[in-house]
Amino acid sequence: MVRMQKEIAVAPCRICGAKRGRIIRQHLRYDIKRNVMRCVKCGFVYLERARIARRYYSGEKYRAHHGPSLGKKNSPRELFKAYLPFQYQIHESMGSLLRPSISLLDVGCSAGHFLHSLKGKVRTRVGLELSREEVSFIRRNLDFPVYNVPIGEAPIREGLFDVITSLQVLEHVEDPVGFLQNIRKHLKKSGTLYLELPNIDDVLLTVYRVKEYEDFYYREPHLSYFSKATLRRALQKAGFEGEIETVQRYTLINHIHWITARAPQQSFVLGMTPTIVKNPKSASAKRLNEFITRADREYRALVGKLGLGESLVFRGTMRT
Ligand SMILES: [Zn+2]
Repeated sequence: MVRMQKEIAVAPCRICGAKRGRIIRQHLRYDIKRNVMRCVKCGFVYLERARIARRYYSGEKYRAHHGPSLGKKNSPRELFKAYLPFQYQIHESMGSLLRPSISLLDVGCSAGHFLHSLKGKVRTRVGLELSREEVSFIRRNLDFPVYNVPIGEAPIREGLFDVITSLQVLEHVEDPVGFLQNIRKHLKKSGTLYLELPNIDDVLLTVYRVKEYEDFYYREPHLSYFSKATLRRALQKAGFEGEIETVQRYTLINHIHWITARAPQQSFVLGMTPTIVKNPKSASAKRLNEFITRADREYRALVGKLGLGESLVFRGTMRT
């Protein structure tokens, strides 16, 4: 973190339009030099020159560096296999939104793990995804339609969906308010928008203040860093109202790892698995795992409730 910088003139804030900002950091993950700005009026945090070419996501560039295994390119099949077992956490958060009668669109559906996990739980599933590789994986292996276009170009009749989800996507888009307005067109009047995205008030940043996590956290493909307040403002501007809460999905062990080893765990699966003995055979090993699982559940619930979970979750409807 650089020392508090003085206010400078910047391009209009994408949330409130103010033209004054401060530089709060000057480098990103992988030591990329880039300014991270904070709007002086609304507090929105974003990358300077927040542009990303569509071809960054449509080709293989994004997945060459960003996926469930650090420092390794993941195939769509590997993404699918890594993420699928954890989709139940999203089902739990969505609760009564998931009903057998609904039609659901997932914007930025990646390798289709979330939509696949909803098989038999909803009536219609449709995906949008920019990555050509992930789209062809879905078309070859899964059983729902997917379009290889951004939401603004979706060849789908407007006003069709009961629920639209977009999971860990909003932070990647250049114009968050425009993106949400495009989503709005595809919802039924009484439809619900469900979002998950990173929370800048993440406990590792705001309470434990792990510098190495901060160096890892700010990264090239994440153009926006929302808090509850700035997310609410963007949603209001796009015509949505609802509830924002935070959830903690990475485990207690992952946090202890960050605090003590000051480095990320090697994979998403490790970071999400609350056990200390792999494949426990003895009764003692099983009991130790049970204890850690219980402690982990309690810890994550507390972090989420304190508003410090790593993800923001929005669930809401169009303002009438
Ligand atoms: Zn602003």
